[in-house]
Amino acid sequence: MMHRTKTTGLATALCIAITALGANATTYQEIRCGTLLDVEQEKTLTDQRILVRDDVIAEIGKSVSSPEGTAVIDLSDRVCMPGLMDMHTHLFIDTTGVTLDQSAPTRSSAFNTIKGLQNLKVLLDSGFTTVRVPGDFDYYYAGIELRDAIARGELRGPRMLVAPHAISPLGGHGDLNTYAPDLPHPVMGPMIADGEEAIRRAVRKEIKHGADWIKVMATGGVMSQRDDPEVSAYTKDEFRAFAEEAHRHNRKITAHAHGDAGIRAAVEAGFDSIEHATLAEPETARLMAKKGTYYVPTLYVVDWILEQGQSGGISADNLKKARLVARKHAGSVKLAYDAGVKMVVGSDPIFPMEQAVREFNAMAKRIPDNWYVLKAGTISAAEMLGLQESIGSLTEGKQADIVAAPENPIDDMSHIESVNFVMKGGVVIRNN
Ligand SMILES: [Zn+2]
Repeated sequence: MMHRTKTTGLATALCIAITALGANATTYQEIRCGTLLDVEQEKTLTDQRILVRDDVIAEIGKSVSSPEGTAVIDLSDRVCMPGLMDMHTHLFIDTTGVTLDQSAPTRSSAFNTIKGLQNLKVLLDSGFTTVRVPGDFDYYYAGIELRDAIARGELRGPRMLVAPHAISPLGGHGDLNTYAPDLPHPVMGPMIADGEEAIRRAVRKEIKHGADWIKVMATGGVMSQRDDPEVSAYTKDEFRAFAEEAHRHNRKITAHAHGDAGIRAAVEAGFDSIEHATLAEPETARLMAKKGTYYVPTLYVVDWILEQGQSGGISADNLKKARLVARKHAGSVKLAYDAGVKMVVGSDPIFPMEQAVREFNAMAKRIPDNWYVLKAGTISAAEMLGLQESIGSLTEGKQADIVAAPENPIDDMSHIESVNFVMKGGVVIRNN
């Protein structure tokens, strides 16, 4: 009897839910933009209207056929543009005042999830409606859980594409290299793989737990100990095993790489993108252009480290590496731009997340083409992800990911740091 009552109760609840869904009619919103940036045509348009139907851009133009009762959002004093995209964010890395070796092993996955949520809110409020995590420092899969909770509509945040970990060789940039070798339990990075068999297994494990992307530490790094940014971390056969395994599973793969040998090996193996590529030689830049390898230069972080270094916030060893990197980085970026490589915005935040949006202006300082820079953080990023059909520009049929700022970033890229309207998938996140 008890059981039957329960079943009836459940059936009633389901009925109500279904009725509510049925009653949930299509919603329309009309956004009136004083200025609108068409990143595909590289055109600044005036007095444009966007009709949003549920989560999609239904119409766009000087006039749109809004049904009666459509809610109007007046942005006639603002510049509308597509939702911004940060293709190199980390949600769980905190190195303020400590090294990663010191902080990472003290943070549980639950702790990281909470920090990650806070960071995602900041990113969305800044205008980033889509982010890619190119490996993060969590021993479990917190990034995947956050991605899925956002996709289910349970949490607010940017849509996420996730490489859960940065797969690294023993002693590489994704390992922790300063612990005593005689500890009763070794303290290591979350995903260490050496040799082709272990590499294939590591890629499969990432995919088993939900990876969209695979991330590889192809050289040493700047903010770590004992690994060398100039040395290739894996052999050519190992790089090939990584790319083959990822692509066979229809996943994309990216490499952290500073020195040319590591960049070159990853590009030759068919990696989809390269992060940092600080010390790229001209021939490697040309090969990237030829093969369509995307370049995520992460420029603001270099400025930030050097700035912190002056105030003594960075260790002498890290600062020495950063200076080496900074000297050649600007050259590599120019080289890549001249060679026709497609660049993508990625902030690599080891700084407060509010500053991630400064990557746009950091890129604009090095590249004399603000349309190129805006595309790097919108349509070019969507192309890198293979999602250009659904996001990356204000186009009919695409997701209603729309942001607006008081002034035009094409005139001065720093204006993008003042975004004060954010809509993601038809939902207004903020409108100040
Ligand atoms: Zn990074």
